[in-house]
Amino acid sequence: MIEVAVTGASGRMGSKIIKTILKQEDMELVAAIEAPNTPFEGKDVGEVIGLGTIGVVIASADDLREVLLDKKPDVLVDFTIANAAVNTIKITAECGVNLVIGTTGFSDEQLNWIRRTIKENKVKAVIAPNMAVGVNVFFKILKDLAPILADYDVEIIEAHHKHKKDAPSGTAVRAYEIIAHELGRDTNKVGVYGRKGLVGARTEDEIGVHAVRGGDIVGDHTVLFAGEGERLEIIHRANSRQSFVNGVIKAIRYIINTDEGQISDMGDVLGLK
Ligand code: NAD
Repeated sequence: MIEVAVTGASGRMGSKIIKTILKQEDMELVAAIEAPNTPFEGKDVGEVIGLGTIGVVIASADDLREVLLDKKPDVLVDFTIANAAVNTIKITAECGVNLVIGTTGFSDEQLNWIRRTIKENKVKAVIAPNMAVGVNVFFKILKDLAPILADYDVEIIEAHHKHKKDAPSGTAVRAYEIIAHELGRDTNKVGVYGRKGLVGARTEDEIGVHAVRGGDIVGDHTVLFAGEGERLEIIHRANSRQSFVNGVIKAIRYIINTDEGQISDMGDVLGLK
């Protein structure tokens, strides 16, 4: 049985992750943690996320070390916010507990520090800003296709719901980086973000990136390779957050069999490398 702790237990991702863990025959939820001073502290996490009593009480992040030393989970899953996650990761690694980290928005400095902390404490981790299986296959396809279609024009189009604050999406940026890297182009130079007015003909090297916003679109990404007389489009569409959660479940199982201090991503988890 893989024993799992979840931080951000009442959040959009954390609550779905807990619901899915409870359905796995080889996993057990042993701890649920929320930010300090939330109204959920001390309440049964099942009650909070609409499942009824399940016997796991939500603990405060202030008590994380005590909870981990008491429950001794195999893995802690973190989908919270970057600045809080840094402290969670420190305490978790010091307690010898492995980590699946889905939180996004870390600075490069924070990511380097996280990697060092994991290695120094000889725990294992999966770190991935997008855990959806299909998205990671999408990345792999782009990596393989870009050199084959090196003389085709590349445009990336993403679409998201009207509430999304940042643009382009992290997934579009990653797709852009993968393609630019495979084509030996400088990521600081070849991106063209939207076009308007008399911009002139497109250059051979540029990679267009376009953000569409509207309604409740969960997340669509299209990469268009346009050549003479034909075009090829690679499209990924997310319909729900469950796609990320299913990747988390795979990451939890994967991590158990990795080596001490090993840091993996979803490409490793899915055998795409
Ligand atoms: P959310 O705001 O719904 O949930 C975050 C939860 O974390 C909240 O309940 C909050 O109270 C809790 N929290 C904050 N500080 C905490 C602490 N110190 N300890 C424990 N809990 C704490 O957000 P969300 O939509 O669930 O997203 C969470 C994170 O996951 C974001 O960074 C998001 O970008 C990322 N995300 C990653 C993927 C992926 O595939 N890797 C997919 C979706 C979202």
